[in-house]
Amino acid sequence: MNTLNVLGIETSCDETSVSIISNGILTSNLISSQDFHTQYGGVVPELSSRAHLQIVMPLLKNALQKSNLKLQNIDLICATAGPGLVGALLVGLTFAKGLSFSLKKPFVPVNHIEGHIFSGFLMEEKPEFPYLCLVVSGGHTLLLIVKSDLEIVKLGSTIDDAAGEAFDKVSKLLGLGYPGGPLIENAAENYNNDLIDFPVAQCKNEFDFSFSGLKTSVLRFIQKEYGDAERIPHGDLPKISASFQRTAVKSLTVNVERALNKFNVNSISVVGGVAANKLLRSELNRISKKYGKKLIIPSNEFCGDNAAMIAYRGSRLYENGFKFSLSENAYPSLNENSFIKL
Ligand code: AMP
Ligand code: MG
Repeated sequence: MNTLNVLGIETSCDETSVSIISNGILTSNLISSQDFHTQYGGVVPELSSRAHLQIVMPLLKNALQKSNLKLQNIDLICATAGPGLVGALLVGLTFAKGLSFSLKKPFVPVNHIEGHIFSGFLMEEKPEFPYLCLVVSGGHTLLLIVKSDLEIVKLGSTIDDAAGEAFDKVSKLLGLGYPGGPLIENAAENYNNDLIDFPVAQCKNEFDFSFSGLKTSVLRFIQKEYGDAERIPHGDLPKISASFQRTAVKSLTVNVERALNKFNVNSISVVGGVAANKLLRSELNRISKKYGKKLIIPSNEFCGDNAAMIAYRGSRLYENGFKFSLSENAYPSLNENSFIKL
């Protein structure tokens, strides 16, 4: 691996990202975020694909320049193959396949969630196998034990909404806007008084998550107190936001503690967009100290969608002997139904 120049390309949603890992060192991780979706209250797939198409080539040129490399120096090409928006994925995937074909260099399609799961390895302090991994993003909520590069055991997942989705939906309900996570976090920031007692869901599988009941509880509270969301006094938004945030974070950390009580792991890693949440970070910090486990949370650059994690994961698959043909369209190894033995 350490002699390779690995190119990563990520276009699964509303971030176009191109990265290069050179001799095991990340030399560029360029991320272009499509902020214009905020005016529509969510990502518009067609606009996303078009924006990826416009920016992917300039990003590649910049990434090569920043890494002091020429296109011909690239040894391995990795791109997100799914899950994600189909039109958006196609842009990065076909771009990567075209490069692979013309440069005659191997191509590795990467599962986006796997990219997140291993993103802790981009940090200076890395997770240690086996590690407990909490994946919290806009589309996924998973609790996993990662035993090695090739063996991941799924303990639980959400039975309804993803954690990030819950933040987004409640934010919309409160009229705060999109994306909801940072807006709710901001609204809750300086609130230190009494909290509303929203319930933490109990699932049949002790490691599963559920957020739709919490969202309904917030809605019922609003209806009961104010009639409808438009009548919420501005001054009450911090209290509702802080109460929701506290309960959402508790729903996640309760399962983390349960898993730590039951399984022997060497570290804990939390990945995905919601891992940016300060309350979640501080609660997990407390838990990691209590159980004496190393906690690895990727920095914000690697928490959101980025191509560095795709290049890293692709290179690990390649080093483990995986070969992919250009006609391969499905994303390999892990998928939603077959977590997770390769
Ligand atoms: P991802 O799907 O990994 O790209 O992450 C996007 C999701 O993370 C969205 O649902 C955001 O609302 C959520 N998110 C981003 N920042 C935060 C935050 N500070 N607190 C909670 N959720 C967040
Ligand atoms: Mg993601």
